[in-house]
Amino acid sequence: MEKMELRDSKMAGATPDKPPPYSESFQNPGGPNMTLPTAPPIRPVVHTVVMQQMGPRSTTIVCKSCNHQIQTRVEFQPTTKTHLFALVLCLIGCWPFACLPYCMDSCNSADHYCPSCNAYIGSYVN
Ligand SMILES: [Zn+2]
Repeated sequence: MEKMELRDSKMAGATPDKPPPYSESFQNPGGPNMTLPTAPPIRPVVHTVVMQQMGPRSTTIVCKSCNHQIQTRVEFQPTTKTHLFALVLCLIGCWPFACLPYCMDSCNSADHYCPSCNAYIGSYVN
């Protein structure tokens, strides 16, 4: 009887019931339904307005947006350079003239717009 019991316990010890539950760690933490976020399909963005190298003055051009031959409307916008000029003028003590770069067209970028459809056509940056 003793022998039988020993053998039984030995058998039970020799054959482990289950391997460690590795399967849990191998599973996707988010579950099987979790998929990687797929990037949205890249669609070619059609810009009706094409950036164009323009001059500082109003020019006659065919608007790419409304296909009309127009005389561009020029708006001068201060650029980083304009702000830098103003800052430098302040730093060297010429602060009364700090607004000067903003008044000078040559220090600003000239943005060209279509007068009929207001489409942005291009800029001229010094
Ligand atoms: Zn236009």
